[in-house]
Amino acid sequence: TERSLVIVKPDGYRRGLTGEVLRRIEAKGYTLAALQVTEATREQLAEHYAEHEGKPFYEPLVEFMSSGPVVVAVIEGNDCIKGFRSLAGATNPTEAAPGSIRGDLGRDWGLKVQQNIVHGSDSTESAEREIGIWFPNL
Ligand code: ATP
Repeated sequence: TERSLVIVKPDGYRRGLTGEVLRRIEAKGYTLAALQVTEATREQLAEHYAEHEGKPFYEPLVEFMSSGPVVVAVIEGNDCIKGFRSLAGATNPTEAAPGSIRGDLGRDWGLKVQQNIVHGSDSTESAEREIGIWFPNL
């Protein structure tokens, strides 16, 4: 089995899409191993997005991720990293396929950062690293 870290970003939380995202995760057959509503600290975001530091969207991204509560989850199931990224759809919600979370529920809001509702880990290494940032006790 495999674990992935999922975040319902502030836009998803604000729009009341948390239940819809969790519903799709559970309907797909993945298990919720941990779940919390929290306000991300600057430290957590700097660690989480370390690979993007210096990119033009980095500051807007950290600003956006600090703009309200997020829902952070650890999900579990065979190949759930790839599986959740498929559920989420392409990073750019305009291009994300209908049927995916971003394709069905997201769009371009004309801002400097893509407000794309969810985050999902992209590899087993990043999943374990990210779980350590958000759930130090797991
Ligand atoms: P995530 O990691 O959030 O699941 P991702 O792996 O598809 O999405 P990354 O490339 O890791 O995307 O980028 C992290 C986040 O930064 C994106 O989810 C989006 O919010 C924002 N972002 C990425 N690329 C851009 C861009 N070119 N312009 C604006 N914002 C961007």
